[in-house]
Amino acid sequence: MRKKIIAGNWKLNKTPSEAVAFMQSLMPLVSNTTNMVVVAPSFVALPAVLQAAKDSNIAKDSNIYVAAQNMAAHEDGAYTGEVSVLALKELGVLSVIVGHSERRQYYNESDSSVNAKLKLARKHDLGVILCVGENLAEREAGQANQVVAEQVKAAFAGVEAALIEKLAIAYEPVWAIGTGKTASSADAEAMHIHIRKTLAALYNDELANGLSILYGGSVKPDNIKELMAMPNIDGALVGGASLKAADFSALVNFDK
Ligand code: PEP
Repeated sequence: MRKKIIAGNWKLNKTPSEAVAFMQSLMPLVSNTTNMVVVAPSFVALPAVLQAAKDSNIAKDSNIYVAAQNMAAHEDGAYTGEVSVLALKELGVLSVIVGHSERRQYYNESDSSVNAKLKLARKHDLGVILCVGENLAEREAGQANQVVAEQVKAAFAGVEAALIEKLAIAYEPVWAIGTGKTASSADAEAMHIHIRKTLAALYNDELANGLSILYGGSVKPDNIKELMAMPNIDGALVGGASLKAADFSALVNFDK
């Protein structure tokens, strides 16, 4: 059984003190869930959020984990402004989001740098949430399946099956991110099945069936139930609705 994962990507929001206040509001609201809760603050808020989770008895006994939104494709060296996997590991970060469409779109993140980051994170036993998804023109041209399969194949190039543990994929159609438009649950399910088939062809059925595939794109308290009812949708990666404790906890507690 794949556990449901509800992950919040805070993007360029929340200072360290705002992030701590958010955690203090959120933790009591999600203390009874069996779903895995992930929050992804900005780099500078990571230490404060990790400390807030550590200090709380609630987080100790629950399923709250802290992820980074990105990391460098290199372990160390002359890469001004980048953040190393080694620093994330030392802080106690659980996982990292790799290949978010905003990184691909605004920061020229290429398939090959996504592949390098995925390999580097897994080499250091950092979990990965790999983001893939087509844009509107690609969907309208009937190319969504092909685009997503190519992103998956490129991201996993040269990755041994043994490293796929602690890895999740987030299918995030770019046209649904922050727009209020959501893929229908049937379309999202169809793409998740397609991603599983792509993985099965690269590796094997067992691996493809074991990997969690999250959906992302304007997930809100009023549409999460329908999405999570789909057998191949194993959770959600959430932007906007992860910023308020009431909304995010409603997403985490969708099954209550
Ligand atoms: C995201 O950025 O990963 C995302 C899904 O954003 P939103 O929920 O705001 O569409």
